[in-house]
Amino acid sequence: MSKLSLRELYLDELRDLYDAENRLVKALPKLAKEAESQELRSGFEEHLEQTKGHVERLQEIFEAMGEKPSGKRCAAMVGLIQEGDEMMDEDFETGVKDAALISAAQRVEHYEIAAYGCVKTWAGLLGEKEAQDLLQQTLNEEKETDEKLTEISEAINTDAMGSVSGKSTVQDEDQSEVPRPRGKSRSAKA
Ligand code: FE
Ligand code: FE
Repeated sequence: MSKLSLRELYLDELRDLYDAENRLVKALPKLAKEAESQELRSGFEEHLEQTKGHVERLQEIFEAMGEKPSGKRCAAMVGLIQEGDEMMDEDFETGVKDAALISAAQRVEHYEIAAYGCVKTWAGLLGEKEAQDLLQQTLNEEKETDEKLTEISEAINTDAMGSVSGKSTVQDEDQSEVPRPRGKSRSAKA
């Protein structure tokens, strides 16, 4: 067996991602259909469109390298999607199903973030400047999606806890030492 070069590893992982993204193009409509919250559903639909773009970017990279995109099966994505499918077979209380969907989707995003981070770095090392830019664009979209899912999950998790309305508004906040929840409520200080 010959030893793999960095370029071969890079190609291998790109093919892995190509397979993963194509699987997601098929899986995301199902997630969207399962979502109870309108916001979550349109989030999935939006990411489906982005994901089609991720496939195209990878195709572009393969074309420029004169290589074929196919030939690898992403076992991790097969497993992540399967776990999501199994979860959807359960019965859930209101809001809990969406919490489960977000949990499944964020596992996927974190996998992609790790993978794109690596191939992007290798593209740079191998002098593949255009590929590096394309991979960086996808990486940014995966990170944004992950953050958006976290944002959406705040309301959904509250819902899932069964404490929907009225609660958790910080009352006496004039000089509260209460640590603020991340991300939110750092806007208007008045
Ligand atoms: Fe993607
Ligand atoms: Fe993604």
